[in-house]
Amino acid sequence: MKISEILKKNEPTLSFEVFPPKTSDKFDSVEAAADQIADLRPHFMSVTYGAAGTTRGFTTEIAASVLNHGVTPLAHLTCVNASRAATKEQLDSLKSHGIENILALRGDIPEGANPADWEFKHAHELMDFIKQNGDFCVGGACYPEKHPESPSVQADVQSLKIKQDAGCSFLTTQMFFDNSTFYNFLFKVREAGVTIPVVAGIMPVTNANQMAKIIKLSGAFIPRRYVALLDRWQDDPVALKQAAIAYATDQIIDLIANGVNHIHIYTMNKPEIAAKIQENLSSIIKKPE
Ligand code: FAD
Repeated sequence: MKISEILKKNEPTLSFEVFPPKTSDKFDSVEAAADQIADLRPHFMSVTYGAAGTTRGFTTEIAASVLNHGVTPLAHLTCVNASRAATKEQLDSLKSHGIENILALRGDIPEGANPADWEFKHAHELMDFIKQNGDFCVGGACYPEKHPESPSVQADVQSLKIKQDAGCSFLTTQMFFDNSTFYNFLFKVREAGVTIPVVAGIMPVTNANQMAKIIKLSGAFIPRRYVALLDRWQDDPVALKQAAIAYATDQIIDLIANGVNHIHIYTMNKPEIAAKIQENLSSIIKKPE
């Protein structure tokens, strides 16, 4: 099923992200975790793509396994340093596995690379190419706290209009921990004429090291309330996990109460986290028919 159809209904949806393994010896355990998460029957599941190339084939395999478990998969695809010919092969492979939804991304620029030489410079060019090469539903990424390369949220939001014009049907946000950041962002997105659904990306961060990495990579703002719980339970992983799930649940309830219907959970391949959040919201987000 096309994700644009799933998001069209004026009802809350819950989707989960998994990432494929970096090495083949971990494939079976990651596939088992993805299958367990699929058995929870989310509205769809996304599978990330290794821009460095190590896990590319695994994205298709895990997405195909999700589909075999009866859940609509969303395969991520990046275009950093990718040729049109290689990208066409990826698209053909996705098509042959019955995958009809792609999250089209540029990917991070590797150190020392020269993007001027690339066949695709930005995600919207990949979106264009995908639309020309198959009947795919295409989504894209967005950043409530702006993309790190962008001079301002306004400048970044302009690139979302280009994505929409290139055939992008929905956007998924980078994780955020303060809903007011998201509401301000959404206001600017709509003001810029971007009308497609924006799916809110939520991550229950269950350890302090993970949070340090997130801040370094995305520059996300961490509210004092979250800092306090990381401080209080940094040496008690079970208590911290419970607190992080409660925080994420609270964030989601506030979003849905304010009309943000589509929620995407960065599960870090942990079925128990996906299951607990789904259970906490069982009367608020109905499972798909
Ligand atoms: P773009 O849309 O190309 O934007 C990159 C920068 O260029 C932004 O600053 C933007 O404002 C600017 N820009 C865009 N268009 C133009 C233009 N025409 N002219 C001038 N400037 C422009 N990475 C992976 O490697 N694998 C994944 O699976 C993956 N999944 C992700 C999922 C989500 C939901 C998110 C939010 C990110 C994900 N990423 C993933 C990370 C992503 O690849 C990086 O953030 C990357 O640096 C930017 O990708 P993009 O698609 O947003 O790029």
